[in-house]
Amino acid sequence: MAENSKIEWCDHTFNPWIGCSKVSPACDNCYAEAYDKRFGGERWGVHAPRRLTSDVNWERPLSWNRKAAKEGKRYRVFCASLADVFDNHSSIQPEWRARLWELIERTPNLDWLLLTKRPQNIQKLVPWEWFFPINVWIGTTVEDQKTADQRIKHLSKIPQAVRFLSCEPLIGPVDLTNVEWFDGLRFNALEGKLHGDTGYVFELEWVIAGGESGAKARPSHPDWFRSLRDQCASCPTPFLFKQWGNWVPMLDRDKDDPDWRGPYGRANSRPNQYRIINLEGGCGFHGERVHLMRRCTKRAAGRQLDGVEHTAFPNLAKEVAA
Ligand code: SF4
Repeated sequence: MAENSKIEWCDHTFNPWIGCSKVSPACDNCYAEAYDKRFGGERWGVHAPRRLTSDVNWERPLSWNRKAAKEGKRYRVFCASLADVFDNHSSIQPEWRARLWELIERTPNLDWLLLTKRPQNIQKLVPWEWFFPINVWIGTTVEDQKTADQRIKHLSKIPQAVRFLSCEPLIGPVDLTNVEWFDGLRFNALEGKLHGDTGYVFELEWVIAGGESGAKARPSHPDWFRSLRDQCASCPTPFLFKQWGNWVPMLDRDKDDPDWRGPYGRANSRPNQYRIINLEGGCGFHGERVHLMRRCTKRAAGRQLDGVEHTAFPNLAKEVAA
């Protein structure tokens, strides 16, 4: 509900309601649930009713929209940071959703980033007559190959100007060329497009990637980020590296580790280091290079990948002819 957001890829966050249920490993350390608990809420889980936010909160996007119009700018609004817009929980009233869709239509100077871990619900939960306004960007979280396989095929069905992936927290490698897309079609990483026999072309407009932060943060292998960066560069698809989170590679040790088959995990003798590979379903996979990661503050870890900040955004010149 912040007036301004500290999230690197948006200007504001807006929560129409609060509460959610965990759906995949990316949710394990859900900061929104922790935030809710800290303020006495009980909005997490399948049995917990979601709560509509205040009328004052619902007025805020209108004022952002007026300001954007006055300044001749567009603001990106992340919806929602304390819920999942496409959560189909029974306590979320149809009127709440109708109110949100109407708000989106009334704020054409805002780009609404609807990010979900439930893309299979998108088409069921938007009004049948709704033609996805141009100021709606639809994204799905992809934290590893399994969730990429499960979710991107649903995203690819949405006729949207901007479709994006948020690969955060990244807890495994993601190969977009291995994803089974809509109707079994495959992504052409060299063109950044998916061509179907019907002439349908699916373009991925943006990829955000980042590591996890917080007390229980899991480290992300640098090669997972490098791979996404390089896949995007080959398309080209805009790539934004948001953060390392609370684990950063020890660059002086950034080399192949011949001992990668060992039972890795947090090193007891060095509690602030993590050897990032675990053959039993952990953070690595066979044959991958191994890195020692160092725990530090999110700020100290920064957001450079191999010495470069990646802060690309979708090219709206072709999408939003204001
Ligand atoms: S979908 Fe998002 S808000 Fe919901 S539990 Fe998972 S991380 Fe938290």
